[in-house]
Amino acid sequence: MRLRTIRPEFVEFVPEVLTPGVLYISILYATATHSCACGCAEKVVTPIRPTDWSVIWDGETVSLDPSIGNWSLPCQSHYWIRRNRLVWAGRWSRQDIEAGREKDRSIKLRYFRGRGRKGDPSPVQNRTADRRVSDSSLVDARRPRERSDRSPEDSPA
Ligand SMILES: [Zn+2]
Repeated sequence: MRLRTIRPEFVEFVPEVLTPGVLYISILYATATHSCACGCAEKVVTPIRPTDWSVIWDGETVSLDPSIGNWSLPCQSHYWIRRNRLVWAGRWSRQDIEAGREKDRSIKLRYFRGRGRKGDPSPVQNRTADRRVSDSSLVDARRPRERSDRSPEDSPA
């Protein structure tokens, strides 16, 4: 059953068993994790980064931007989290997904080029932070995969 609401829970480590309707936010690992809101219970990990998702927490409710397109899951569900509410979006066609990935690639390319610029105040610091995130067992980074779209990563088997 599709969920209609989700609530934020700030954690250091994401629990093994995810409670549906909870968005686990780890500031330390810069990730938000939830059990797929369609009810299929797949683990959905959304990295919080300038090139991925942003979390907006107003003290009571949470929003995630942009939308979450679970194209790598069988359910193919697509929704926004807006002030603790799930706003369901239509499924995307193959073309939509490809177009979205293409757009995302160019966003990332621009971002990472910009970071390499001379005079960047803290490139080394940024890189260290990134490495810590990918080393974490929270994020499914053990299987290297192309990170060129905004589909959340698959959960570890
Ligand atoms: Zn699902």
